[in-house]
Amino acid sequence: MDVPEPISKLMDGFMRLPGIGPKTAQRLAFFVLGMEEEDVTELAKALVRAKRDLKRCQVCSNISDQPVCSVCRDKNRDRSVICVVQDPRDMIAMERTREFHGLYHVLHGAISPMEGIGPDELSIPDLLKRLEDETVKELILATNPNIEGEATAMYLQRLVKPFGLKVTRIAHGLPVGGDLEYADEVTLTKALEGRREL
Ligand SMILES: [Zn+2]
Repeated sequence: MDVPEPISKLMDGFMRLPGIGPKTAQRLAFFVLGMEEEDVTELAKALVRAKRDLKRCQVCSNISDQPVCSVCRDKNRDRSVICVVQDPRDMIAMERTREFHGLYHVLHGAISPMEGIGPDELSIPDLLKRLEDETVKELILATNPNIEGEATAMYLQRLVKPFGLKVTRIAHGLPVGGDLEYADEVTLTKALEGRREL
């Protein structure tokens, strides 16, 4: 028996998401059928709005629905420290620790010659522009503790040398090969506290 087209379309949509195979897609599609129409409409609107309204912050490249994100706008943040992360999700993980009160810079990836990702594919030029401001005294390199993350940290360390900043790398309490976004708050706080100067 063929499933009606609206269902198969919905399943196709779910299957484009990461980690969702045909069985899960079918389960989700039928779950949506059982939902209240109002809730389904809300969900559909949320999907469209997230895609349409979220842009990159003009300062730090974090995702934001404003030209400048809420962290960059916050007058209480310490503007002398910038923590460089690979992904907006890493920034969320760092914020959860409540231990870091500086600003961020989101690279949107890491240098990976295998995948053809060089410095120009990342928001590195924007970072350099920010460093021209003499308020910035320390750069914390919080890229992931894997090959690409380490390579990116090393590249950045060399690149920013002329600015004469304090450059630190978060400690390796983090599991090697792991992603920052999955680290628990305690591990991440320890990694931040134990950062060493490069
Ligand atoms: Zn920002």
